[in-house]
Amino acid sequence: MKPEDFPKEIQPYLIPKPSGELIYRCLGCGKEYGIQKLLYVCPNCGQVLLIHDREFDRIKKIPGKTWRQIFDYRKMLNIPSLKGVYLFHEFIGPVIPLDSIVYLGEAHTPVIESNEQLSEMAGIRIYFKNDGQNPSASFKDRGMASALSYIKYLICQGLVSDVLAICASTGDTSAAAALYASYLQQHVKSAVLLPHKKVTPQQLAQPLGSGAAVFEIPGVFDDCMKIVEALSENYNVALLNSKNPWRILGQESYSYEIAQAFEYDLADKVVVLPIGNAGNITAVISGFLKFYETGIIEKLPKIIGVQSEHANPVYKYYLEPDAEKRRFKPVTVRPSVAQAAMIGNPVSMPRVIHLVEKYNQQAGDQHIFVAQVTEQDIMDCQLTANRNGHVACTHGGECLAGLLVARQKGLVTDDESAILDSTAHALKFSGFQGMYFENNFPADYHITPRSELTNRPKMVCPEDLKHVPAPGKPLHGENLTHFVNRISEEIAILLDLQRI
Ligand SMILES: *Cc1c(COP(=O)(O)O)cnc(C)c1O
Ligand SMILES: [Zn+2]
Repeated sequence: MKPEDFPKEIQPYLIPKPSGELIYRCLGCGKEYGIQKLLYVCPNCGQVLLIHDREFDRIKKIPGKTWRQIFDYRKMLNIPSLKGVYLFHEFIGPVIPLDSIVYLGEAHTPVIESNEQLSEMAGIRIYFKNDGQNPSASFKDRGMASALSYIKYLICQGLVSDVLAICASTGDTSAAAALYASYLQQHVKSAVLLPHKKVTPQQLAQPLGSGAAVFEIPGVFDDCMKIVEALSENYNVALLNSKNPWRILGQESYSYEIAQAFEYDLADKVVVLPIGNAGNITAVISGFLKFYETGIIEKLPKIIGVQSEHANPVYKYYLEPDAEKRRFKPVTVRPSVAQAAMIGNPVSMPRVIHLVEKYNQQAGDQHIFVAQVTEQDIMDCQLTANRNGHVACTHGGECLAGLLVARQKGLVTDDESAILDSTAHALKFSGFQGMYFENNFPADYHITPRSELTNRPKMVCPEDLKHVPAPGKPLHGENLTHFVNRISEEIAILLDLQRI
């Protein structure tokens, strides 16, 4: 539809113009900095930053109901720059002009309600939000759309040129970073650091295919992160990890999308997501808070962060009920099938601590919880979800496992419904499915396959068949007829089929 086809009172708001005044704000010392330069940490105290809109109150002057209409009508426009995270332009990056926006098809991922069998298992209605249906097959694309649009904006203004974008990754950050950087390849080159053998072959293939410089480093993600931090402190590079607050801003779209998908009614909703470097949960909390403060949603949903017992620093932190006594301690990670969340020292922890407190305060009682799950439950839940029509990755399985734990503990009641983040596509992690089906997980995963969840291909080639086809060597006549008959008989026996 075209703008003139919409109600008169909405028309002036449909196509956003640059507005607001964004600044970096330090979570440690509170100092503020302009956005003419890409900053990741406070130059004064070294703490992480969040981006704040000094003119956010102008958004509150428009009623929540009007905003809901603006976003719903805007969704019908055929303007590419407004089809991704910038559908929520005023909240995601109001200063970015539309012609600086990089849109590669990210965000607005489908929300799929589970069938009866799966809902029965949880005892409540559940939905998967399929973030694997983003262009690089994970939620990271939302943050990259934001970070690279900002970089393009700086390039267009002549504030930077010949950017080298760099990141450390558990696999998906590098896939997304390399993809978005390659779209701007005339101005932006990318380099990614991956922990050797700790990303899947599919995830390794992605940045290679996008033409990034790919470096494999011994150790785990936390080691790679230290190296890119050193590089970003000492050299002229643009850091694309979620330490970069523009990533957080873009990923807030996840919350806005959920609000829109449920007609902005989030009473009795529970949003479940995995926690790794904690950028995602930071963005999700921040997003819901902004929609709440502007009256676009009237209730804050519950949020449940999930961690594997093999990488659980956030879970451990919140085990201590007394906020005064909590001390954050990084953990040494052990192998996890939720490999993209295998992080012992999450960079966004100070943001999480800050925002969780604010969220619970605004909600009036505790609304954010952290659940811990076993590796076994992650795999069992992923496979069960996918045997019921989903395309969940291991982290999607982790969310289902986390929801079951939360149900057991009474954190989620019968009248609530849950939205689970399948943060990536199942295919990225099919190697873990393979290890499960073939029962060859290394011992330190502590995973024993359950026979009812395993599945293997069966070779059908009866021994008495003299002639079988091969590529370039087809069968003909009698031989072909015999081959077709013998194989179909064999399959009919295996499937116990009745003749008609
Ligand atoms: C990055 C990632 C996570 C963890 O998200 P954080 O923002 O690091 O907490 C979970 N699942 C997948 C598939 C990821 O790529
Ligand atoms: Zn500071």
